[in-house]
Amino acid sequence: MKTKTALTYDRPNGYEKLPPAEAKKLESYCADYLGFLGAAKTEREAHDQAVALLRGAGFRDLDELVAAGAKLSPGDKVYRGCGGKALLAAILGRRPLEQGLRIVGAHTDSPRLDVKQNPLYESGELALLDTHYYGGIKKYQWVAVPLALHGVFVKPDGRKIAVRVGEEPGDPVFCITDLLPHLGREQMRKTMSEAIEGENLDVLVGSVPSRDKKAKERIKLRVLELLRQRYGITEEDFLSAELEFVPAGAPREAGFDRSLVIGYGQDDRVCAYAALRALLELPGTPERASCVLLCDKEEIGSHGATGMESNFLENSVGEMLALCGGAYSELSLKRALSASGMLSADVNAAFDPLFAGVSEKKNAALLNHGVCMSKYTGVGGKSGASDAGAEFVAEIRRIFSEHGVAWQAAELGKVDQGGGGTIALLLARYGMNVVDCGTPLLSMHAPWEVAGKFDVYMTYKGYSAFLRD
Ligand SMILES: [Zn+2]
Repeated sequence: MKTKTALTYDRPNGYEKLPPAEAKKLESYCADYLGFLGAAKTEREAHDQAVALLRGAGFRDLDELVAAGAKLSPGDKVYRGCGGKALLAAILGRRPLEQGLRIVGAHTDSPRLDVKQNPLYESGELALLDTHYYGGIKKYQWVAVPLALHGVFVKPDGRKIAVRVGEEPGDPVFCITDLLPHLGREQMRKTMSEAIEGENLDVLVGSVPSRDKKAKERIKLRVLELLRQRYGITEEDFLSAELEFVPAGAPREAGFDRSLVIGYGQDDRVCAYAALRALLELPGTPERASCVLLCDKEEIGSHGATGMESNFLENSVGEMLALCGGAYSELSLKRALSASGMLSADVNAAFDPLFAGVSEKKNAALLNHGVCMSKYTGVGGKSGASDAGAEFVAEIRRIFSEHGVAWQAAELGKVDQGGGGTIALLLARYGMNVVDCGTPLLSMHAPWEVAGKFDVYMTYKGYSAFLRD
């Protein structure tokens, strides 16, 4: 019997037709996702968590294979890190690399407060750490909430000392103080971007004086004494440290119906984890090489060695080509990249009834209506967009439909409202097909972001379908 194609198109809520078996898989996936999100609160932690999962699944370090002069063949699994932050993982396909890869690329950095290089000071008998915020934040959201400190000190001899304070039960946390309303009359008249100044995002870290009565700044000294005891570091060691204050606490379920996930850094670790899981669970040897790219520095423009503007992808694909038997050439690398197809895996804004005015509802992502595909991003007349071709969008549409992936097409806000960008254009310059595809979020870039579980699960199903097709 011929099935009748509907003349009209509408997007149903994902929970309307969710079979019980699928609902069970959704819950189990989301439980794993919560575990990853809580363990990977910085790009370094995301890298390390991902490497542990990859190694457990038999992926081998590409740099070690290069050093050993190994050969790669179809089905081989490799990964390559960059600076302990960015990461590429791939499963080689039956076809040669020159015929292109299937890539899902996400980012693992999130907005936060970075500790400055000369951060520690004492004032008013309190010790504070000075910060410089990273990425697009609303500064007022970061005061008067518990913060955790994550990162590393690196000693001149190369020793790395990891720091993670504020996540375990019984750990102390930190905070930035805010003005009491009673004295806040002047502050409350300021605009939201001015009421809390970036320079005043200083974190309270101590209030007890050192026993050394002769010393100056004894509260600051006490903090240094504790840091030396615990980490063996001195004040000078802050010069070569990367310390990040992030919201303290684990992600968790939200809502009476537990249909939501609230957690820090879901932009973009919700897509990063989905991409990683899709690759880890890929059965057998794919037709084309399947690749996952987890990059850093997206929130500040993708520059730097670990950002998507770097040559990390080209260099890594070049290394793979060289190990695949045939002679490496610049032309074969160019062919491999331009013949590739990519999902730029980044989050989108979900329609929020409290701020309905910024969205055009027909083209806004609705929570729990599936993974969101954006043909283009950009600002004010698509400026800066990498507008995906209708042919590629149609191909993804076919793949998603064949694999039962619930998805929705959406753009970020009303036409003249603002906008944003992703790493899509940085990959499109190789000539490959790229389209943005990721999870819709509420409160994006806030200390606690909200996702719908159905969308979280469909993001993973979508990436799996793309890599398997
Ligand atoms: Zn993002």
